[in-house]
Amino acid sequence: MKFERLPLLCLPTPCHCLDRLSEQLGAEIWIKRDDLTGYAGGGNKGRKLEYLMPSLLASGCDTVLTSGAMQSNFVRHLAVACAQLHLAAHAVLMPNPYEPGREAVGTVATVGGNRVLADLVGLTVHEVANGTWDELERETELVRAELEAKGARVEVVPLGGSSVAGAYGFYQAAQELPRAFDWVICPTSSGSTHAGLAAAFAESTTQVWGIAADPEPELADVVLELAQALEPGLKPEDIRLSTEFVGPGYGVPSEAGQDALSLLARMEGIFLDPIYSSKAFAGLLELVRRGEIGGSICFWHTGGFPGLFATPGTEGVG
Ligand SMILES: *Cc1c(COP(=O)(O)O)cnc(C)c1O
Repeated sequence: MKFERLPLLCLPTPCHCLDRLSEQLGAEIWIKRDDLTGYAGGGNKGRKLEYLMPSLLASGCDTVLTSGAMQSNFVRHLAVACAQLHLAAHAVLMPNPYEPGREAVGTVATVGGNRVLADLVGLTVHEVANGTWDELERETELVRAELEAKGARVEVVPLGGSSVAGAYGFYQAAQELPRAFDWVICPTSSGSTHAGLAAAFAESTTQVWGIAADPEPELADVVLELAQALEPGLKPEDIRLSTEFVGPGYGVPSEAGQDALSLLARMEGIFLDPIYSSKAFAGLLELVRRGEIGGSICFWHTGGFPGLFATPGTEGVG
């Protein structure tokens, strides 16, 4: 499967060894710096956009609609790409959507952060009360109908840009790694980062291990389905996913994640984000300590820096 690419990022992103940390852990830890894509503030969502935007442009739409959590990094990225390409960008945002029965416990940061950047490029936000991901999808359909009733030609982009085209961005990105690693560790949430990498390394000795930032029970199935669209031979056992590092839930920082964030910043001068990459890095540290991974390990830094500057709102979620 091939997708047309619209070049937006400064590629390849750097990939380098974390010398101090490697010495301390007794394993060779490298980092793939997708926090440094040079686009829209950096992060993995730029990879997806390069392959999502061509079909949006080809559709002849004048309005792009997506949805997500208030601090979505994808919404920020999409808003920037739409501004550049003269498309109106709309997003339906919930403070912190959740799986039925699995609402995050704790304080959710909704104000500032990503919202500042998205506002700067003219995103129109439709704020809705907190609820489940399914409710968010229904709200998005209502907004689509409203926009269409006003004459807009609307295309809806899935949550987090998760689609086969989005996953293809990471299938391609895997080729940027400077050497063969024993392990590639990435955060997993909507699933297409993990899926693209799993597909890319299907025929190699490199094993991909995703660390869930989301307590969705079917997440491994979502990843498998996206990955199989790129590599039909992949089997369920090829998708390795840990769900034990989610902490208090999606969108709420975990204690281990915050410790990992602080450790990497102090030792290597690299900031992770509070919702995804810090939890994945905490997972990496723990898996190395337990001896479940070792040898040469590449951590895929997915960005999310603006989330560090988000603060709790007054709506009292969680
Ligand atoms: C969206 C996101 C992820 C998760 O990527 P998916 O492809 O949605 O699984 C990880 N880290 C950051 C910073 C993100 O914004």
